[in-house]
Amino acid sequence: MKYDYLIVGSGLFGATFAYKAKQAGKKCLVIDKRPQLGGNVYCQETEGIHVHQYGAHIFHTANKAIWDFVNSLVPFNRYTNCPVANYKGELYNLPFNMNTFYQMWGVHTPEEAQAEISRQQSAIRTQLGDREPANLEEQALMLVGKDIYEKLIKSYTEKQWGRPCTELPAFIIRRLPLRFIFDNNYFNDPYQGIPIGGYNALIEKLLEGIETRVNCDYFVHREELDGIADKIVYTGPIDQFYDYRFGKLQYRTVRFETETLDTPNYQGNAVVNYTDRETPYTRIIEHKHFESFGQAVYDNPKTVISREFSTEWQPGMEPYYPVNDERNAALYAQYKALADEETRVLFGGRLAEYKYYDMSPTIEQALLLFSHSQN
Ligand code: FAD
Ligand code: UDP
Repeated sequence: MKYDYLIVGSGLFGATFAYKAKQAGKKCLVIDKRPQLGGNVYCQETEGIHVHQYGAHIFHTANKAIWDFVNSLVPFNRYTNCPVANYKGELYNLPFNMNTFYQMWGVHTPEEAQAEISRQQSAIRTQLGDREPANLEEQALMLVGKDIYEKLIKSYTEKQWGRPCTELPAFIIRRLPLRFIFDNNYFNDPYQGIPIGGYNALIEKLLEGIETRVNCDYFVHREELDGIADKIVYTGPIDQFYDYRFGKLQYRTVRFETETLDTPNYQGNAVVNYTDRETPYTRIIEHKHFESFGQAVYDNPKTVISREFSTEWQPGMEPYYPVNDERNAALYAQYKALADEETRVLFGGRLAEYKYYDMSPTIEQALLLFSHSQN
């Protein structure tokens, strides 16, 4: 065999696995069907700005070992995600914190904010009685009360998921921090930032000295590729690997409308969410704010923005968010049972595990899979 590993997919999972394998003296070939490497963290440079082509990516982690690992490859900047919500022209800080409560109700202290939320919770508390919140609407009303639910959650969530909040699981909204301090940091993790030089710099470091092929679809060249490596690491969609024999897994996807503008600073923030029902997009990303701060924003007279439209996935579109419902979970379990029987093929990453991994757990899982594969 020419290679120890054929790695299908050059996203963070495949690239991290390849990096570790190379360090251990293994010979790898990494292929990707896209015209470039990096999977969903790939950035396209426009007007000197790194445009997050497959959706805005903010690295955050509570795992110091992963933070040290990525920083050993490329240093990270001090970007902290502080999205702003625009509800019919009213601006609110996110996540829900003392700034939001002040903007919503004019309250000045944590005690006043808690009292207002408690007042607004009384109706849902009575409705639920001893029962736990059964859906996202009930959960949101219990967490933050009616005003915030109606202005900042309901329509945004229904646009994002294409389903009523009463039909969505409660856990989705529990991802968002709720704080009675003035702190707009969207994440609770202690480590956060963007690689200096962009995500492509991180991918280049991971894949340094490793043979790669782009525009190479595994399924088009399967016969040849299966014969050139001892083992295969597959990071594409698991249902496709098995020719959809049990049926297709579902995803939500995002369509991006990206434009370059003749202004140095369009919205003053990397992320602005549009939380009303009427605006057809969920948010606008202004890419330069991930990597330039203060006066540096004005050094470039142009800016690039992307409007994000959330839609149901159809074959041919990019599969982004796994749909965590019972039907898909049961279908995935059938494919997983087949994958568990494979001896030459290892499965990993967001598509092969049908799991909404953030970047840090993706890297962690790739490191784990490599070390297990050596035992
Ligand atoms: P991918 O990056 O999807 O890579 C898989 C690769 O496999 C792709 O390049 C694909 O082309 C290739 N491939 C598939 N099939 C084949 C085939 N047949 N032949 C050859 N190649 C193939 N995480 C965060 O931590 N913070 C964020 O802010 C964040 N924002 C996100 C926003 C969006 C819109 C999305 C979709 C994800 C976001 N994530 C974020 C998650 C992050 O993208 C993932 O954790 C990470 O990219 C997973 O890496 P992966 O290698 O598993 O998958
Ligand atoms: N959410 C919301 N309003 C906002 C931002 C988020 O209601 O302005 C809700 C929405 O339901 C979303 C969930 O909070 O699915 C989790 O948000 P997060 O930003 O973590 O979603 P992601 O895009 O990362 O899945």
